[in-house]
Amino acid sequence: MSDTNTDPESAADPGALRTPIVAVLGHVDHGKTTLLDRIRGSAVQEGEAGAITQHIGATAVPLETISEMAGALVDPTDFDLPGLLFIDTPGHHSFSTLRSRGGALADIAVLVVDVNDGFQPQTEEAISILKRTGTPFVVAANKIDTTPGWNPQEGEPIQKSLEKQSERATSRLNENLYELIGDLSSAGFSADFYWRVQDFQSNIGVVPVSAMTMEGIPDLLTVLMGLSQRYMKEEMSIDVSGPGVGTVLEVKDERGFGATLDVVLYDGVVREGDTIVVGGRDDPIVTEVRALLQPRPNAEIRTEKRFERVDEVRAAAGVKIAAPDLDEAMSGAPVRVVRGDDVDAVKEEVRKELAKIEVDTAEDGVVVKADTLGSLEAMANALEEAEVPILRAEVGDIAPRDVTVAQTANEEKHQVILGFNVDVLPDAEDALDRTGVKLFDDDVIYQLVEEYDEYVEELERAQQ
Ligand code: GDP
Repeated sequence: MSDTNTDPESAADPGALRTPIVAVLGHVDHGKTTLLDRIRGSAVQEGEAGAITQHIGATAVPLETISEMAGALVDPTDFDLPGLLFIDTPGHHSFSTLRSRGGALADIAVLVVDVNDGFQPQTEEAISILKRTGTPFVVAANKIDTTPGWNPQEGEPIQKSLEKQSERATSRLNENLYELIGDLSSAGFSADFYWRVQDFQSNIGVVPVSAMTMEGIPDLLTVLMGLSQRYMKEEMSIDVSGPGVGTVLEVKDERGFGATLDVVLYDGVVREGDTIVVGGRDDPIVTEVRALLQPRPNAEIRTEKRFERVDEVRAAAGVKIAAPDLDEAMSGAPVRVVRGDDVDAVKEEVRKELAKIEVDTAEDGVVVKADTLGSLEAMANALEEAEVPILRAEVGDIAPRDVTVAQTANEEKHQVILGFNVDVLPDAEDALDRTGVKLFDDDVIYQLVEEYDEYVEELERAQQ
């Protein structure tokens, strides 16, 4: 396997640093997707063939490739880290609902802010999530190329570019950048241009970038490497050789395999044939890994051989796990490899992790469905704040059974299903039509709660 994470040296050293997991967050349209695509695309261009590894749900960019992209900025001998693993789905929804050990799944984050647009509602939301989870982050002040009069040299470090720009361009850009730095400090962070920051753990580095022209991207990667090197060394005990531990991103049916798990492995190793324990809808599922799958480079979507089998996967990495009995597995649930015969102990650990996200239910209330355990918990918290009781809360798409359950609610205002980021199965549509159970679905929690509140007000007005 060409994965840098399987470096035999790091495998032999239980104290070795694993690849840090990086998430990209920010307001819609500020450039998260473009930034990720550009980092991935350039890594493919710059790196040797096969150097970049496409994972399930994540992309690994090895240190050598980063140092090629960053040129003089990154000396690979300064780092012990194997590279960076970028989670592919940007946005704070996926960030906040993907967790490990009760914290965020990502070790570090990039907060993307459009430099012309500044702080926006989802920027604020992302910041409060980063604060709550204690995740270190850097700010990518994006779209600097749109500044009038901006005329950079290719391949030049961004600090130098800024110094050399016409007065018109720098003053405009500086104004925006200082406003951003001011907003960050109002949010409780001391922030500055990254080249003035000494300690990236107590100060937020702001990196002016353009995801379009790639200016500043080498700088951003350099800062991410430096920050993670420090953070991983000082803050995290990493186990790259123990039994694998991960989080389920998605449960998907795959032809020839049945239900499979897309997993981000954040600690240890998983091998074909391993016994694993996975959080399920009822009790934890105990099963055996039949196959570990990674995307085949340049595979055609329609061909059957989209995946290739690998014998083992080492953290941090994304991987698809095929195993029997995964139908009841839940997105957001933990996955643990069992070495030796302590299946019961591991089952108990998984049970405990799941119990942390248990939702209080009432005799009468609404039905809640969400796409992951983390989002279900976030929904339950929001509803609790709004004093809306919950009759049942589950991970998964809306099924006819949910309609039947909602129908049993006593009060009319509780004969409701709230769906967060889920689909409605066709049979459930029919059941909704038949029963008159009300459905609200959205992918923004506060909007969903607002929609529901408005509905209740309307009902109450009509009943007066
Ligand atoms: P997301 O919603 O945060 O993922 O934002 P996207 O990556 O989809 O970007 C939104 C729009 O901004 C798209 O039209 C991008 O082409 C554009 N965009 C993103 N980054 C840059 C940039 O650095 N410069 C310019 N000029 N446009 C950008």
